Parts: sequence; C-alpha cells; structure tokens
Amino acid sequence: MAKNEITKQVNKIVNEINPDIFLFNTLTRKKELFVPVKINYNKSSDHIGIYSCGPTVYNYAHVGNLRSYIFSDILKRVLYLNNFKVKHVINITDVGHLTSDADEGEDKMLKGAKREKKTVWQVAEFYTSAFKEDVKKLNIITPDVWSKATDNIKEQIELIKTLEQKGYTYFVGGNVYFDTSKVDDYGKIALLDREAETKSRVEKDQNKKSPHDFVLWFTKSKFQDQEMKWDSPWGAGYPGWHIECSAMSMKHLGEQFEVHTGGIDHISVHHPNEIAQSECAIGKKPWVKYWLHNEFLVLADGDKMAKSGENFLTLSVVENKGYSPLDFRFFNLGTHYRKQLMFSYEALDSAKNARVKLNAKVLELKNKLEVGSVKEKLESEESKKYFNNFLEDVNDDLNTPKALATLWELLKDSKIEDCEKLSLVILFDEIFGLGLRDLEKDDIPMEIIQLAEKRLRARKDKDWEISDKLRDEIFSKGFEVSDTVDSFKIKKK
Ligand code: AMP
Ligand code: ZN
Repeated sequence: MAKNEITKQVNKIVNEINPDIFLFNTLTRKKELFVPVKINYNKSSDHIGIYSCGPTVYNYAHVGNLRSYIFSDILKRVLYLNNFKVKHVINITDVGHLTSDADEGEDKMLKGAKREKKTVWQVAEFYTSAFKEDVKKLNIITPDVWSKATDNIKEQIELIKTLEQKGYTYFVGGNVYFDTSKVDDYGKIALLDREAETKSRVEKDQNKKSPHDFVLWFTKSKFQDQEMKWDSPWGAGYPGWHIECSAMSMKHLGEQFEVHTGGIDHISVHHPNEIAQSECAIGKKPWVKYWLHNEFLVLADGDKMAKSGENFLTLSVVENKGYSPLDFRFFNLGTHYRKQLMFSYEALDSAKNARVKLNAKVLELKNKLEVGSVKEKLESEESKKYFNNFLEDVNDDLNTPKALATLWELLKDSKIEDCEKLSLVILFDEIFGLGLRDLEKDDIPMEIIQLAEKRLRARKDKDWEISDKLRDEIFSKGFEVSDTVDSFKIKKK
C-alpha cells in the first residue's frame, strides 16, 4: 500500500484541526499544553529537540532500561503524527561512573572490565552494540544522534571552564566540584527541601562543602587502575557523570530545547544537577521546557530491576523463552508510562496473545482486500472520528492504553468498511510501532491461532490427549506448533 497517500491525507487533517498535545511536566507536576520553545516556531523548518538519558554501557540493558526508550520512542512518534519534525539525541555513557548517583561507590565501567577481563573500551563498545541491537529489535526509531561521552570530552571541559569562570565551582583534593549553594533554586525538579535534606544526609566525601555538591572533573581517581583519562586544565582525569548530558544535549540541540526524558530515578540527583549546571552556564534562563520521566518496570514481587543487581532480565532472555521483542513492546503499550509496569511471564503471555490476535485480524483484512490493489483512505465521518479519538488519546500525555482500547473498538466496529479500517490500523501503528504495515499476507491464519490457544488451555489443564489431538490437527493444516514456557510458537511446515 502506498504510504504517502494516507500520510498526506493525515497531514492535512492534522493541519486543519491543529490538535493540542498535553505532556506531564515533572518540573511543575502538571499536565501542560505542549508549546515549542521558539516563539515563531515553524513546523515545516524547525525541529523539536528531545534528549534522552542513555544507557551506561558496562552491561546489557535490562528490560526496565528498555522501557525508558520505548517511552521516548512513543513521544517522538506522537510528535511526528502531529506534523512536528524532531531531533532526538540519546547519549551513551561510556565513561566510568560510580554505582551511586552521588559520586560514591564503585566505578561501573571498571567493574564490568574486571568481570569480563577486557579493557573498559572493549566493554563499552560491546555493550553499546548490544544496546543498539535491542533498540532495532524493538522497532524504536533510531535517534538522530547517538552521542558518546568519550567522544565529547572537549565539550565537557569547555562547559566546566564556563562554570569555573562564572564562579560556580571549587577545587579541592584534586577534583572540581559544582557549588550548589550558589544556585537559589537548586533541586527544584526534585521538590527538594535543601535545608532539611542537608541536615539528614551523611556525606562520605569530606571535600564537599555541601552533600548536594557534585564532581565535575576528577583528577584524584578513587581507583588505582583507572584507564580512561584525559588532559584538562585541572590535570589528567575524567569527567563526573552529570556534565556529559548538559554538554552533549546543548551541543546538538542548542542552549534551550523542548524535552528531556529519563527514568524516575533521575528526578532526585542526576536531573537537578544537569539543570543546575546548564542553567548557570547559559545565564539563568530556563534550559529544558518539559521534563518527562517514565516510572519503573518492576518484577512481580515489587523488586526494582537494577543493572548492578541480580534481578536482571534482558531482551535476549525474553526472546530465548519464545517471545518476540515486539511482544515486549506491546506489553509496554498496555500501561501508561507514568505507572509502574509489573513484569511477569504471565503478563507477557497476555500481551503476546493479544498481539497474535491483532496480527491475525490485520492479516484477515489484508487477505480480504488483496493488498496492493487497495488505496488507503480515510473518508467517512466515522473513520475520521476514530482517527480524532486516537489522536486525542495519544496527545493526552501519550495515553497508549487508551489508544489500544480505541484500536480494539475500531476492529470490532462493523460500521467501518474494511478498507478504511485497515487504513486506520496501519496509521495507528505509526505510534504503536508493531510492524503492522509490513505484516505478510497469508502468515498464520486466525483458525490456526485459535486451535493453538485451545491447545494451550488443554496443556494448562494437563489434558495431554486433547493437546496432542490439537497438535495433529494444526499439523494437518500445514503448521507446526511448539511450546514455550507459558505460551506457544507457530510456524509453517
Ligand atoms: P542506566 O543505563 O542505568 O543509566 O539507565 C538507562 C535508563 O533506564 C535511564 O533513563 C534510567 O532512568 C532508566 N531505568 C533504569 N531502571 C529502570 C527500570 N527498572 N524501569 C524503567 N526505567 C529504568
Ligand atoms: Zn543524563
């Protein structure tokens, strides 16, 4: 089907209605109308800037990390649907950082290198590629810029020099610190009561004037065998963690840009520090307009999934259990990004089964319509209403669960003719990113899926006789069904 026709039609509809987008801004703790930074913003030539805090590449990304990038992908797709152009930057934290956000703990990269008997550079390269592979598998649109911290040391040094010249730093014990006492609204995003917190915190680094201060440049490494070092005006060393995001976002997106994303763990330390140093460097004007944070993916027993902990689940593990990465993507769409997402294989099974049904429905429509001869269209008032509802759902702070409900409602609606239905579903998938446009005709028929589901129920009831019979029936119809941990896989014979 010709993508351009429907895209043109939708662009026109969107231009006519000029819909509002609302995003929940952590800075104000309110849903706010999205308005680009530039006063005379021009949709055809200007870009919306999005910066997403990227992975620390000393290990594989876990499925919790991946939730963060599925969320920023949805944000980007929603902006595209609203006819915005976007410039998206994701950084790669490949400099050795500490296991605590507050300049404490072990060096993460060094820990990875020791574990794997490799150099820190090899570790970084390996896990960066692995992360990009996951991104691809999850249909996350590749960012416009992948920005590696180690490729931008000069920019970080320049930013620290600016802060030093403006009087926001102090140098003690070989390290350059940011002086948070110079910033009246330090910690505004964390709603931090600085005085109360300062009294209650026990600071391990005696060089700090306040526990909230943080290192901009280390020359006194806490680790003897620190491999990553660069020359700087303060001596050979390496940057503190927070400075890289300020330096690289401003390099690519300018001094002021629209959206910064990350997980909720960054609200308390990393993002207050990014804001403080950036706003002091650019002259006390607002730096980023909208701060969006995704809630955590947690394990069913409520445990947080941590990269350095044992509760570590990767996309490959999930794939090896028989799930497609798109099952995991679909699973994410069912929960709003600001709600905790409880991971369990049972919940993933439900997502998988729903996706199988969705694919089957789309194929049924494609088969009926003899794809290729069909023109995508959106003409009837009813179908336009569905599009408007969908747009309203996703423009309401990326409400994908509601948008999915609109999708199922559409699929059931007999008043919409098949051609328009298929056009709408494929259009909705520009947000969902489930590859529906490219689904091959004649894949797995609905009848086979229903038989496999029946067989799964029989297996769960330990009714092996029925289960075997159903396997044979599926086989006789030209398909092979195999078992996964909690579900099934089907392939053509
Ligand atoms: P890291 O590689 O640890 O720096 O994390 C990469 C991104 O994943 C950051 O935006 C984190 O806030 C986010 N993140 C970390 N753990 C989780 C989790 N369990 N669920 C969702 N997002 C997470
Ligand atoms: Zn960051």
